[in-house]
Amino acid sequence: MRFPLRMLLCVVLLSCNLLGQNAPDRAAADAATKAIRPDEIRAHMRFLADSLLQGRAPGTPGYDIAARYVATELEGMGLHPAASGGWFQSVPLEKAVTDAAASSLTLTLNGKEQKLADAKDYVLSTWFATPLAKGEARAESDVTAPLVFVGFGVTAPDQKYDDYASVDAHGKIVGEIYGAPSTFPSTERAYYSDGIVKAKNAVAHGAIGVISLMLPEDWKRYPWEWLLPQIQVGEMHWLNKAGVPHDFFPELRGNALLSQRGAQILFSAAPKTLEQVFATAKAGKPQAFTVPASAHIHTVAAQSVIQSSNIVAELKGSDLALRDQYVVYTAHVDHLGICPAVEGDNVCHGALDNASGTSALLEIARAYSSLPKPPRRSILFAFVTGEEMGLLGSDYFAHFPAVPLKSIVANVNIDGAPGIYYSMKDVVALGAEHSTLGEVVDSAAKSMGYQVSPDPMPEEVSFIRSDQYSFVLQGVPAVDITDGVNSTDPKINGLEVIKKWLVTRYHTPLDNMDQPIDFDSAAKGAVMDFLIGYQVAQQDEIPAWNKGDFFGTTFGPRHNAINTGEQADRSPVSVRVLCDRTIVRFRTLQLAAGHASLDALFQVQQK
Ligand SMILES: [Zn+2]
Repeated sequence: MRFPLRMLLCVVLLSCNLLGQNAPDRAAADAATKAIRPDEIRAHMRFLADSLLQGRAPGTPGYDIAARYVATELEGMGLHPAASGGWFQSVPLEKAVTDAAASSLTLTLNGKEQKLADAKDYVLSTWFATPLAKGEARAESDVTAPLVFVGFGVTAPDQKYDDYASVDAHGKIVGEIYGAPSTFPSTERAYYSDGIVKAKNAVAHGAIGVISLMLPEDWKRYPWEWLLPQIQVGEMHWLNKAGVPHDFFPELRGNALLSQRGAQILFSAAPKTLEQVFATAKAGKPQAFTVPASAHIHTVAAQSVIQSSNIVAELKGSDLALRDQYVVYTAHVDHLGICPAVEGDNVCHGALDNASGTSALLEIARAYSSLPKPPRRSILFAFVTGEEMGLLGSDYFAHFPAVPLKSIVANVNIDGAPGIYYSMKDVVALGAEHSTLGEVVDSAAKSMGYQVSPDPMPEEVSFIRSDQYSFVLQGVPAVDITDGVNSTDPKINGLEVIKKWLVTRYHTPLDNMDQPIDFDSAAKGAVMDFLIGYQVAQQDEIPAWNKGDFFGTTFGPRHNAINTGEQADRSPVSVRVLCDRTIVRFRTLQLAAGHASLDALFQVQQK
């Protein structure tokens, strides 16, 4: 039997000095949180996860129905549309899928041609061409060039590390290892692992193609058979105002990932063995050498332009001096669409991922709209598209925000309603340690009776894996509250619950409404997220990056210097090298999180 949570909630809220607010504010916030109802969260989720919506993939009627539903709810709450005059910010997307039968990868080793086997030795990333018009089109790319191996392909001046230092990559195809040196601090390692950062670095060094391989330990986490279909489904990019795919590098005319077998074939001609280069990589030492071989990559892709939309609502702040500053909440509405069938069901319902977060955010919006007086600063509710394809909707929003970027003081993201699995003793605040949002989180958690636990899987760098990272890249302090692994019910082993969910339901049709879901606990988690945004909107100071923080130092200046995404997009490549994120293989990474997290969870459990 579960302790009746609503009772607990009231007791907690009434007995604590909520957020150090003055009495009327505290009472108002207390009253508003009562608008967050478990039944409403369940009802929203049931609608959004229904088979009728076919898994809410961007560009499908199912997504558009979900978007209309969200807008309808927001309108009913009395909130205002905030996407250039309406509820919907149109996000133009280009989708491309490699035509494997028409594509090829051939190596010339010691003067002999060797055609590699698609799906066995390699898989090609899609090559995009700028679409000329709406509708289907064929993109074709061809590159033949000598090969140079460049270790991780990382140039990190702040770490005094450069794989390219001793080699000339101009006009060459670079072979590089997935990831970045484990000797880097974890945040920096995550940043330099980013596929976009690496691609920009390759282009900056004159490379015209990339062939990637993975370390043996990464193959353990991301098995080839598991990875392959996720790359084969294709990629999406958002299109800028000129119709050009964002974060795409036409200079790189071929992009392949080798399997372990493919890597063995390539290295049969190399001056060093795979074992030697893996050992150097593990030691965190830069390395590069010419491989006496060349590669011919021919890529054919079917591409199409589709439209999806973010849904944006606003609650105007009550303080004339502060109302032009915004706290932005985000939750992604999209999911994967139609998937490989499980038990006869081929709809990826995305009930927890992220119908639950969307539903929690709708209820948070309801709580805000029920305040007798809006908070001092304004609140934006951005329900975004294309998260599953690489944070596309949030990245688009962060480039073309409904309000000046400079006026956005914080982002609170919800990817999976916190508490949805079970009643929690603790929460994990992803990103809180990077900015003064950490203090806000501590205060909100205290008033809710939650402990704040450190990220149980820091090596997974989850902070850069959901929509909050799109804001971080534009210099905005951000936080994402996720589940702690300690349940209030001693009979529930939180770690086991999450671990099991990741292998049995994550990104499958079984993430549906027929699984155990704790709506009371999700409502409590939503109150926590409400309180974080509310405190930021009320307090005198705006959140700031911690002194010397990597994200703050790297991206913070953007926030102050740039007012609109149009300008951001026009910034020179040399600046953008430090200011963008991964989409190339990002989705793969993101999808791989399920597997990777398991490793981490096992490790935690063993400790
Ligand atoms: Zn997902």
